[in-house]
Amino acid sequence: MRGVVMYAPGDVRVEEREDAKIIEPTDAVIRVSAACICGSDLWLYRGIEALNGPTPMGHEYIGVVEQVGDQVRNVKVGDFVVGSFVASDNTCEICQAGYQSRCIHNVMMGSEGTQAELARIPLADGTLVATPGEPDKDLIPSLLAASDVLGTGWFAAVAAEAGPGKTIAVVGDGAVGLSAVLAAKQLGAERIIAFSRHPERQALAREFGATDIVEERGDAGAAKIKELTGGYGAHGVVEAVGTQESMWQAINSARAGGYVGYVGVTHGVQLDGLNLFFTGVHLHGGPAPVRRFLPELIRLIWDRTIDPGKVFDLTLPLDEAAEGYKAMDERRATKVLLTL
Ligand SMILES: [Zn+2]
Repeated sequence: MRGVVMYAPGDVRVEEREDAKIIEPTDAVIRVSAACICGSDLWLYRGIEALNGPTPMGHEYIGVVEQVGDQVRNVKVGDFVVGSFVASDNTCEICQAGYQSRCIHNVMMGSEGTQAELARIPLADGTLVATPGEPDKDLIPSLLAASDVLGTGWFAAVAAEAGPGKTIAVVGDGAVGLSAVLAAKQLGAERIIAFSRHPERQALAREFGATDIVEERGDAGAAKIKELTGGYGAHGVVEAVGTQESMWQAINSARAGGYVGYVGVTHGVQLDGLNLFFTGVHLHGGPAPVRRFLPELIRLIWDRTIDPGKVFDLTLPLDEAAEGYKAMDERRATKVLLTL
């Protein structure tokens, strides 16, 4: 099979690899229909995280089941499926409580790479959700978004307690932040304030349901939210960046007793306990349990109620993956879809 392998920072190749195959009886192998390049793949590309030799890439995927292990019951060969970046049994107490990304048997996807023609999916029964049938071609980007960025933004909006009558602020205008705006809208939020300085992302935020755009950042951004909410702050805030500044921007944008749903993978964030103590906010986040939301997200996409696939701003064939990485690294693209 053809698949993406990173040899060194900046050195991405598409090459012939050994076919993915069933290893555990709970595995499935899927023929990947589309994959994407994630912001987190750039950490390796930029040399911020060390590579341990040539590394297969990718952890987001949708596709058609090609083989199943002996113990797989919930999906069958030929099903079109959506999974997430963490494989989970969906039966343990953590999964049953809706936190599948922290399943006691969780397997992080990506060690074998889903930017490839075939991918092995561990714990297939718990991980994969079949769509009602073969999707129309125009639904592919949205189903792929459900696999990661939409599911993550959705969890963040839920953690921020988005709902009727609520004002929700969203820190971060990348694919996850924009997806959180869409989620807050679907969950019934009355007012959605998106932080963004990019005209195209502001436009997509408004299309997804943002009622207000704030360009200020950090303390000035939080002060702006207080100003827009009669001095109170937002009922809930999504944090989808993961830096020291963005974390406090989110916490300080929330009112006392409010909620912060944080899903930006933190880098070097330190929270002073005493400062945190006096904010009186709820903090709830981490790696999103995308699996919890997949059945509903697939339904909303299938019904064409939502179109989260608009977050992809560059589509390339798998063989041109190197150009996709380059475009994201140079910020010419926010989110790249790879077709197969
Ligand atoms: Zn579990």
